[in-house]
Amino acid sequence: MNKCVARFLRAFVDGKLSRFCCLCSLVMLCLSIAINVSAAESITVISDDNYPPYLFKDTNGNTVGIVADTWKLWEQKTGVKVTLLAIVWEQALQQLQSGHADVIEMIYQDPEREKRFSFSAPYATLPVGIYAHESIGGLATSNHLSGFTVGVQKGDGCIFHLKQAGVQSFRLYNNYEEMITATLKGEIKILCMDDYPATYYLYRAHADQTILRAFTLYQGEFHRAVKKGNEQTLSLIAKGMAAITPAELAAIEAKWKGRPLQKHLYYGQALWALVAALTVAVSLVLLVFMLRLAVKRKTAEIESKREELELERLRLTDIIDATRAGTWEWDIQTGVCQVNHRWAEMLGYTLETLAPLNADKVKSLTHPDDWQTALAVVERHLKGEIDFYECDIRMRHHDGHWVWMTDRGRLISRTSSGEPWIMRGTHIDITDKKEADAVIWQQANYDSLTQLPNRRYFNSHLHEAIAEAADHQQKLGLLLLDLDRFKEVNDTLGHRSGDELLIEIAQRIRQCLSDQMLVARLGGDEFAIILPEPACADVQAFGQQLLQEISKAMILGGERVYVTVSIGISQYPEDAVNAEEMIQHADQAMYEAKNRGRNNLRFFSMAIKEALSQRVSLARDLRVALENGELRDYYQPIVDLATGKIAKAEALMRWQHPQRGLISPSLFIPVAEETGDIVAMGDWILTQAAQHAMQWQSLVNDDAFAISVNKSPVQFVEQMDTKNDWVHALRSMGVEGKRIVVEITEGLLLNPDPIVEQRLLQFRDMGIQVAIDDFGTGYSSLSYLSKFDIDYLKIDQSFTRNLNAGNESYVLCEAIIVMAHKLGLKVIAEGVETALQRDLLIDIHCDYAQGFFYSPPVPAEAFEQMLVQQSREIASAR
Ligand code: C2E
Ligand code: MG
Ligand code: MG
Repeated sequence: MNKCVARFLRAFVDGKLSRFCCLCSLVMLCLSIAINVSAAESITVISDDNYPPYLFKDTNGNTVGIVADTWKLWEQKTGVKVTLLAIVWEQALQQLQSGHADVIEMIYQDPEREKRFSFSAPYATLPVGIYAHESIGGLATSNHLSGFTVGVQKGDGCIFHLKQAGVQSFRLYNNYEEMITATLKGEIKILCMDDYPATYYLYRAHADQTILRAFTLYQGEFHRAVKKGNEQTLSLIAKGMAAITPAELAAIEAKWKGRPLQKHLYYGQALWALVAALTVAVSLVLLVFMLRLAVKRKTAEIESKREELELERLRLTDIIDATRAGTWEWDIQTGVCQVNHRWAEMLGYTLETLAPLNADKVKSLTHPDDWQTALAVVERHLKGEIDFYECDIRMRHHDGHWVWMTDRGRLISRTSSGEPWIMRGTHIDITDKKEADAVIWQQANYDSLTQLPNRRYFNSHLHEAIAEAADHQQKLGLLLLDLDRFKEVNDTLGHRSGDELLIEIAQRIRQCLSDQMLVARLGGDEFAIILPEPACADVQAFGQQLLQEISKAMILGGERVYVTVSIGISQYPEDAVNAEEMIQHADQAMYEAKNRGRNNLRFFSMAIKEALSQRVSLARDLRVALENGELRDYYQPIVDLATGKIAKAEALMRWQHPQRGLISPSLFIPVAEETGDIVAMGDWILTQAAQHAMQWQSLVNDDAFAISVNKSPVQFVEQMDTKNDWVHALRSMGVEGKRIVVEITEGLLLNPDPIVEQRLLQFRDMGIQVAIDDFGTGYSSLSYLSKFDIDYLKIDQSFTRNLNAGNESYVLCEAIIVMAHKLGLKVIAEGVETALQRDLLIDIHCDYAQGFFYSPPVPAEAFEQMLVQQSREIASAR
């Protein structure tokens, strides 16, 4: 009792009165000792006061827990009064040792304690753990504790186990709360605590995250113990404890440790909860699955889109590469330009050598003229007048040459204030195309032989020149030149010489031109010259100069050749007001120049126009002349110069026009040749001549009597059907070939067409004779005289007319006659009008003569009378 008081006082002095429970315990202890002395049927049980859930003080200071409930039950079972005291463990041990308590609860058995106490069988197993401040790591087994100071509750059973583990240093505390507080303050780092109370106190001190359990030191077993020699109390306890049923014990345990879930009570709800949870879980899983699927699908879609875009990008790049186009982008606001590799390459640069590229640099690379043009087109595009910008420009290559580009582009975006911002477009190198275009243009507009502008160029130039003359109220002259008998030159000397001739003529014309004039070759042997003011003021003199230059001798294929030209002139605005009319009128004037004997020039006049229109009406009337019986056959005698008698005749056509009267063949034959009517007309006169030849042969009484019929070259070429030729015509009439002489011109023999030779051979085979009419006027090559079977040469009347003894014509005629005789040909002189001419011809041994001296061409009846008269004279002369 005195010890209890002393302990209480010491506690009081030590300032530990705050532990009210301690005070209470001591009071109770004193009381129980007093009772024990007086009554044998009571028992004092002592134990630790801070071992929840087994034994501890609740917030009201009551001693509660499993042990408290168990002893209450024990008390009921045994009827022995139980005084349960819960104090500091070390004091509890001391109280048992000193005999102030009968039983100590919740004690671990160890050899040292066994020396002093007797133990009951264990009734609970409790893990004892090593706890460490979170700053200490690496503690996994008891072996790791050696060398550390371990905090323990005074008198705690774990001291024995720690010593066995090699721990030398301990720091002792009264209870777990003190230990935990000391650890939080950093006094100690490692603690040894029973897990149950440790969990409780750590949680209460908010230290369960700071002081962590390291490992289990050992499994402690709770016993009840009595002081050695008090074993009967131990058996009393055992008896009472045995009376407590397991169910009662389980109920106490459940009360303090918590109870396992009673399945049968909550089964339904649990099932529903489970089903709901499962449903939610499945739904969640499904949702997650579907979300994942959707995300996967979307990802795949995006990926495929990305691939598609990449492919598209590559495809477009390939296409752009394939087009060999350069691409550009122009920031109009900053002037910065961006181009692709090809753009730079086309100009002989790399992107690096061009950088930094801006509008100024592009301008410096662009031809100044084209830059202005391009800017004007861009301007129109930016104003919205045209949808796209497109322009051909020249850009300077790195080498210095110009590269032609087709530059196309479009405005892509505007600034927020509506200003033009970005333009994009392409450059395509069209240099080759431009060069090809230039060649094509040259070919389309220039004559490849003479290098003069051609008809197409001339036409457009004439239109422009007239428009300009009209604007400035100026005059304009147009000269059309057509070479005379060019065809004959071509046929005689060959096409190569013909080409040389044209080149030479072009050159001669060019020499006569001043800068403002333009000469063009319209085709064949036709040239045109445009004379603007002031050159057209003296167009007459200019025309004469041309005639003179062109008529000068030239050497072609080693031969000296003379060429002349016929020139027709029309003038703006007197003669015509548009290009078509000017050409037409110059052409009519030129035609007139031809008709007027060639090698001269003619100005267009209304008279010329009128004559031409008459010619047109003539052609129209001529078409029906044959069927209307308006043609007449006249005959002119051909006299044998040796006898002075009519030996032959020439059939000459006349046209008895219903309004105009008798028309000369020199007027209508060229028209008939142009229209082709000459063929039928020629056939008609052959028939007439053939019939008369048969008729008159007996009158002449000369087997050599024949009638000449003229056949123009057109008749040979047009009359292709050999069965419908004069040979057949004569045969069908039963006329001998020798009664007919066909008169052809020299030019025909130069025609390379095989039909000509074929016809002449047919004539020879049938005995038809051939005469060369107007001999000496063409550019004849005498070689044809031996090549073809020719019977007569008819000396042109231009020689006969000028015939005087010993003059040039005389010499020429004599030479022709000598040559002809040497070749076995007879000679007929045309146009004999005087006795002198006749005598001179006789002197130079000409065979026949034809001319007004004897008779003009006369109708058949008149000619027949001449023959009758002659036969009478012959008869009377005999
Ligand atoms: P040609 O064949 O040279 O005929 C001779 C021309 O000279 C004829 O003119 C004739 O009247 C003319 N003449 C004859 N003697 C003299 C003379 O002493 N002095 C002058 N000044 N002239 C004389 P015509 O009849 O006017 O015929 C002209 C040309 O028309 C012919 O020239 C001939 O080339 C062509 N011609 C005439 N009739 C025909 C025909 O039926 N067919 C063809 N294809 N041409 C014909
Ligand atoms: Mg003739
Ligand atoms: Mg003639």
